[in-house]
Amino acid sequence: MKVAIAGGTGFIGKHLTQYFLDKKTTVLLISRQKHKSEHPLIRNITWEELEKSIKPLEGVDAIVNLAGETINQRWTPKAKERILQSRLDSVERVRSIIERMENKPVLINASAVGIYGSSESASFTEDSDLNVNDFLSNVADKWEAAAELIPDIRVVLLRIGVVLAKDGGAFPKMSLPFKFGLGGRIGSGKQLLSWIHIRDLVRLIEFCIEKEDIEGPVNATAPQPVTNDEFGRQLAKFMNKPYGFPLPSFVLKLMFGEMSMLLLEGQRVIPDVAINQGFQFHFPVLEMALKDLLDPEIKA
Ligand code: NDP
Repeated sequence: MKVAIAGGTGFIGKHLTQYFLDKKTTVLLISRQKHKSEHPLIRNITWEELEKSIKPLEGVDAIVNLAGETINQRWTPKAKERILQSRLDSVERVRSIIERMENKPVLINASAVGIYGSSESASFTEDSDLNVNDFLSNVADKWEAAAELIPDIRVVLLRIGVVLAKDGGAFPKMSLPFKFGLGGRIGSGKQLLSWIHIRDLVRLIEFCIEKEDIEGPVNATAPQPVTNDEFGRQLAKFMNKPYGFPLPSFVLKLMFGEMSMLLLEGQRVIPDVAINQGFQFHFPVLEMALKDLLDPEIKA
């Protein structure tokens, strides 16, 4: 198999690349910058180079598009524009590449569970109505709509939850206060966290590439979301630290502005498609994921 990953230099992309390399799969990294790699199975290419020639994509079975400006920054009007536009641009570039390819690959396009909007009571599956009423849901909605418009190919819209890994993403930041004995619920603690362990995420991406009848939205989340309060209590227990240092909403709003919604709001997302298609989660419940993430003997 040969896989191209756009945005493969980022947090998820690095894990995905390593996963495929371990399986002796050739990986083509599409980036804004020229990179060099010593690994015999990695090829590096820029978007500009692909505009001139798509020859390096010959034989590619799948394109995984993860490229987009980080949302982990203060959401000023300019940042919001970059966050949205970078995603629409990357889809447009992917579209123009695929249009010129003779043998069409499957496209796995990143999206986010934020597309369902926030709720403390509802459960969302891939069949649920979308609740496009805030910045994140708007971005994800437009991102998916652009990817869906690419003709003549199978498109999987991967609605990714909060990705838990030792070495990047949200988990190191979430666990930091607990290390110092300062862990506690955030805001009301009732907001839901639909999470996924990084190893299940990369396995699910491979699963979606290989299962040809999977198309459209796929929730990339573990089957059992938790509330912020449950998450904090389990984390404190595993780290053998106290739990009881609540962080009020207004402090987060002052610190992070509108972006504080990432911590103060959430949604319960159930991965119906993955379950019904027979995907086996290695980390279906938080307890198993935390055990792995906090074990110093297991590397990221
Ligand atoms: P990262 O920010 O770590 O990596 C994204 C990659 O996109 C970068 O490595 C970069 O690649 C490229 N990129 C960055 N800025 C821009 C820009 N302005 N224009 C074009 N390309 C850009 O993201 P993650 O790996 O964490 O996430 C991958 C995707 O999954 C993202 O789109 C994210 O929104 C989504 N997602 C992630 C979640 C998570 O928990 N991590 C949860 C839900 C969704 P290069 O420099 O090589 O071009």
